[in-house]
Order: sequence, then C-alpha cells, then structure tokens
Amino acid sequence: MQKKNFLNLFIIFLTLGQMGFAQQKSFYNKDEEGHTNQNKFRQLYDEFATPNIYRTASGAPGHAYYQNTADYVMDITLDDEKAEIYGEETITYTNNSPDQLRYLWVQLDQNVRSKDSKAHDRNSSSFAPITKVESFASQHMPKEFDGGFNIEYVKQNGQDLDYIINFTMMRVELPEPLKSGESFEFSIKWNYKLIDHTINNDRSGYEYFEKDDNRAYVIAQFFPRMAVYNDKEGWQNYQFWGAGEYALPFGNYDVKITVPSDHIMDATGELQNRKKVFSRTMMERFEEAKKSFDEPVVIVNEEEAIDAEKNMSRRTKTWEYKAENVRDFAFASSRKFIWDMMNVKIGDKEVMAASLYPKEGKALWEKWGTRAVASTLKTFSKHTFDYPYHKAVAVHAKDQGMEYPMISWNHGRPDENGNISDKVRTGMVSVIIHETGHNFFPMIVNSDERQWGWMDEGLNTFLQYLTEQNFGKEYPEILKGKKQTLDKFPSRRGEPSKIVNYMKGDQEDIVPIMTNPENVKQLGNNAYGKTTTALNILRETVMGPELFDYAFKEYAQRWMFKHPTPEDFFRTMEDASGVDLDWFWRGWFYTTDYVDIGVESVSRYVLTSTPTEEGKALLKRFGIRNPDKNPKTKNSVYLIDLDSDKSKNLKTEGNPFKNAPNLQEYLKEYYSEDEMKEIEMPKFIYEVTFNKPGGLVMPLIVKYTYADETSEIKRYPVQVWRKNDKAVTKAILSLKEIVKIEIDPKAETADVNLENNVWTK
Ligand SMILES: [Zn+2]
Repeated sequence: MQKKNFLNLFIIFLTLGQMGFAQQKSFYNKDEEGHTNQNKFRQLYDEFATPNIYRTASGAPGHAYYQNTADYVMDITLDDEKAEIYGEETITYTNNSPDQLRYLWVQLDQNVRSKDSKAHDRNSSSFAPITKVESFASQHMPKEFDGGFNIEYVKQNGQDLDYIINFTMMRVELPEPLKSGESFEFSIKWNYKLIDHTINNDRSGYEYFEKDDNRAYVIAQFFPRMAVYNDKEGWQNYQFWGAGEYALPFGNYDVKITVPSDHIMDATGELQNRKKVFSRTMMERFEEAKKSFDEPVVIVNEEEAIDAEKNMSRRTKTWEYKAENVRDFAFASSRKFIWDMMNVKIGDKEVMAASLYPKEGKALWEKWGTRAVASTLKTFSKHTFDYPYHKAVAVHAKDQGMEYPMISWNHGRPDENGNISDKVRTGMVSVIIHETGHNFFPMIVNSDERQWGWMDEGLNTFLQYLTEQNFGKEYPEILKGKKQTLDKFPSRRGEPSKIVNYMKGDQEDIVPIMTNPENVKQLGNNAYGKTTTALNILRETVMGPELFDYAFKEYAQRWMFKHPTPEDFFRTMEDASGVDLDWFWRGWFYTTDYVDIGVESVSRYVLTSTPTEEGKALLKRFGIRNPDKNPKTKNSVYLIDLDSDKSKNLKTEGNPFKNAPNLQEYLKEYYSEDEMKEIEMPKFIYEVTFNKPGGLVMPLIVKYTYADETSEIKRYPVQVWRKNDKAVTKAILSLKEIVKIEIDPKAETADVNLENNVWTK
C-alpha cells in the first residue's frame, strides 16, 4: 500500500500569540559540558544483579538453583506456672549448595530480649512535653526483663560442639567442613522466660487475664533456627533487631509439645495424636466440621472453655505435630481457647480453616474468624497456586498481627463493655486476611524478610486488598456499620488516593521501597502501603488485570517453596507479560519520586492557506504578505492561533478547514471516495501541553469534556514521556469543542497535586 504521506504537506504554525510550543523543553542544556543517561526509561542494568546459573534473566530459578534444608525434631515443654519454655531439638542441616561450609549459623531471635541486648540502645530517645503515664514508663523506665535464650548445650553425637553467640546469631563450629550434598546432625538444648507480649508489642509470649488468672500463649521464634545460606547472601546472618523479620530455610518438622492437660492448642503441622488429645465429643464435632463447607462447627465451646479456666490442671498432655516443607513452626496454647473449624475446598483438596479465641473475643470471632480464613485461602489461591497445606488457623491474641506456616496471631476484640466499633469489626477481618495471606508470601514464596520487608508485606497486602473487596461482596453483613452501611469493604491500603499523603510528605521522612526494613522510615506506609498501591496501579492502570494476573501468578508458581529476590519478581513480571516495566520499578521502588502531572496550556487554532482571499486577508493580520510568492510557503497550510490578539472576531465556528482548500484537495487524493464519506472533518484544532512537575513517569490519562457535555477518556502510554519527561504536547483535531481537560479523572495514579489537573475553557 503506497499512499501519499501527510508529511509531504508543509504545516506551518503561526504562534504569534502568547501560547505556542515553546514548552517543548529539553533536558539537554547547551551550556553544560555533558551528562550521563538519566532517562527514566533506561533499563535497570546498574541496579539489578547480573543473571547467573542460579537465577536467570527471565526471573526464574536457574538450572543450578539450590537451597539448603533444615529438618527439626523437637521436644518442647511449656511451663504455665513459671511462664517459661524448655526445648531440646535435633537439627539435620543439608548442604545442597556447591560450596563447602566451615561453620553453621543459627538464629537466636529471642536474644533481642536478653538483658544486654542493644536493640533498645540503637534508637534515639527524647522527651515529649506531655506524655501519658504508661507511655512514659514503658519508654523511659522499661521493666528489665531477661528473655534471651539460655543455651544449655550444642552437641553432635553426645560431643560438645564449639559455638560463639554474637547477639542474635550463633556460629556453630563443624568438626570438619560440610561438603556439598552432605548433611550434618546436631542438637541444642535451651530454655528462656516468656514475656507478656501485650506490654511491648512482642511477637511471642502470653497475654495475662487477671479476672480468671490465666494466660493465653502465642509462641513463635521460640527455638534456635537455622539461618539461610544461598547464592545471594552467603550466610544470611544479618542480626535480628526487631523490625526486619525472618529469613528461614525449608524443612520437615517433628514436634512434641507438652502443655497443661486442660490446655487447648494448635500449631504448625498435622496433629499426629488427635485421638489422644481430643475428648470423644471433640472428635465427633471434628468429624462434623470436616463435612461443613459453609459455616464453622464449634469443637470447644464457651462453657467448656470457662470450665477449663477454673480448673488449672497440674497434669500435662503432649501434642504431636508433623509438618513437611515449612519454613518455621509456631503454636498457641491456653485453657481459655474456644475452637471452631470449617472445611474449604481449594482445587481438588480440602483444607480445614479454624479459629482459636478466648471468650473475650467470642462475639466477633465466632462470626468472622474462620470465615475470613476460608475466604483468604480461596482468593489467594486464585491469584497464586492452590494452598498446599492441610489447614490454616487464626488465633486471637491481643494487639497481635503475626504470621507463621498454617497459623497466625490476630487482634480484634470487643471492648470491656462488649461494644464493637465499626473499625474493630472490619479491622479484625483485615488482619485475619493479612496474616492468613502470609502463608503464601513469605511462608511458601519464601522471600528474605530480613533484607526486604516489601517482598512479603507488599505482595501480601496487595492480595489482601483484593480479598477484602471480595469478602465485602461475599458477606455483605460485614459492611453494616452502627450508623451506615458501606458500599464496599473499607480497605486501609490499596486505593491510589490513600498513598498520596505519604508520597507528598517531607522527603526527609521517606526512603525508597528498596531499603532494608531496619532503615525504613514509616515501614507501614513504605513496605506495605506504597508497594500495595504500586502493584494495584500496575494491575489496573499500567498492565491491565489480564497481563498482570498471569505474570503475578507465574512469579508465585516459579518461586513456590523457593527463595526469590527482588529481581526475580521484577524480571518475571516483565518476562511473562511482555511489558517493559524498568521505568516503573525504578520510579516506584528505587526512588522516592511522586506523581504530579498537569495541564500546562491549551491553544486553539484554525487553518488557512494562500489560495483564498480570506486566507490572504487573515495572514495579513499577522504581517504575512504575498505568501504564495514564496515557493517555500506556497503550498502550505497555516495554523492561526485563535488566542492571539490578532485573531479577534475571527469567524471560525463550524469549519476550521474552510480557508484551507488546498488541504481539502489533498485529502481527496489521499483518501478514496468511499473513505472520504466515512471521514468526519474535525471542527476544532487544539494544541495541549501536559507538564510533569513530579518525578515519576506514568501513563497520561486525560478526560476531554465537550461543549455538548459528552466526554471521553484518552489513555496515552507512559512512553509519551520517553524523550522529554518534563512536558509533552499533543496536537488534537476534534469534532467537538473541548470545554474541559482533566488529568487522571478517576484518581488512578496517586497524583499528589490535583490543582494543576484541570483546564477549563
Ligand atoms: Zn504482614
């Protein structure tokens, strides 16, 4: 097909008015000596790790990818009277790396609570002029508590092994180097004092209930755990300071836990001796729960829990659990627990969703606890892979929100008078969705939380948002508030508008997402909020759900039961979608830039050309005489700026082409007769300049509203900014008069400044 090209025709702008295309700023300044490539679309070669045999350029595990494993056999005793815990464990560590290991690193997270811990000292401290008594006491006069590990021994085959403890890390010397492919078995005996987790927001410990003199335990990070050795970090022995969570290898667990005989408990793993630890009634109810797919069945009811509260048995009971391919182990135990369960169909498998809660939480938990767990498993599975474990348990613990394989701790409790605020009701569902969701990230897609908080928190909070929105539709009753019924679930994070205040905040208080969690300011807004919003925008606005969902699922499935890095995620999202996202990762994850796009100027034009007398007269106004004498301008059209003083009283309504008969002639040659019939001649000509005071490049989403009150949204690809990321100009031929131009009309991009978003005629 060979047709004449429009470019053959000269179009000359007459921009004698105040507007024009002078806005075409360049980032090349003639007076400067030179510059490096700062183009927002340059690829991330400098930032990304070089692909290798362990991790490919596509973001998938490489052909030599390996991971070491740690299997545990443990015998644990919970001493309820002393609030202490004792354990003996045998670790079998298998070196699948190609390297010889001279020593092993074991994590002693509880040492963050030891007497000589520097975790508190590393923070700055100051006085506020007015402080509540309890916060003054906890901040400046904290109760001294020695909750660090007491290591009784570290042995191999009965022989002591040398070890050294460096704060939360213990280096165990190997009698001889551990070769590639070999395993090493050793044992540790330990104990430590449990803390009241409600005082300083610890992730593990107990809540004390004064009224009935009982404790409810949620126990985690409670045993010496192997550190990760991999191709990325070597030994990941970055200390546990409190904010950066965990990096853990996968392994199989065989755990016996001895607790008071009247305690009800659950833990990571499959209960091995159910018939021994369950009463006959509990067994019967459990069989019922297996058949219930739409509502929870109570296994231990309130009356039974209240009875147990009074008894305080001195006898003990041992619960036995086995778990395969998990990265951690946690358990909850109390005589106060009420327990309910229901079955959930995930793919062709059945998974038991369950809740454990003291009576203090019952009013909320009996209604929403297990349902929220079940709903999470369904939505998360849809976006990743079928949930592979046999159960998921939500435990109610005051002020908690913490996740472990198959089990999590969650807040959400009526107040002392039994009142449930709207915030507590939906907040409780949110936290259960969040913590249950963590089964997927990072319990199965096992990213390094110690290094990157966003990889699990951000991805998880993003799917939490989708789950919450879905939950609101599945259970409309959750939306019924005290005063009003909401039209959708009030998700705290996810909507682009919710991140605006953070992103436009003081740059001193903001760091890029790609920052270690210990050094992140505003961890919640950063790793959780901004990552969630970024992924939401990526899905809804940049990629579209179809491309995004496929790529996100591909990432989850590629790295299921493996250890991904940020690059593995970034690369997979591009590899599986065919969308170049380097600009997006750079802007949203490696910088603290924000979105601000505006309409800078709008100019209106009409066309004219030389052959007509009106055209000549018009041009004369602009001081152009005899244009047809000049061969360069002879066969041209002129665009007359309507906003110029010289354009006053110009009659242009209806046909901006009226005075350009040569263009009309040309079009007849260019289009066939049939095509000409199809073409509606534009009646208005505009030149719109969009500017971008913000650092982030984003797709340019523009709503044009016309004089007849109709409107349309035009989405220009982000690449519109690729050669000039300060301003971009668009020449627009329109059938209708434009009366309003609005940037990002549906608030999709987290634009921080809306003042420059609208132009009106
Ligand atoms: Zn989380």
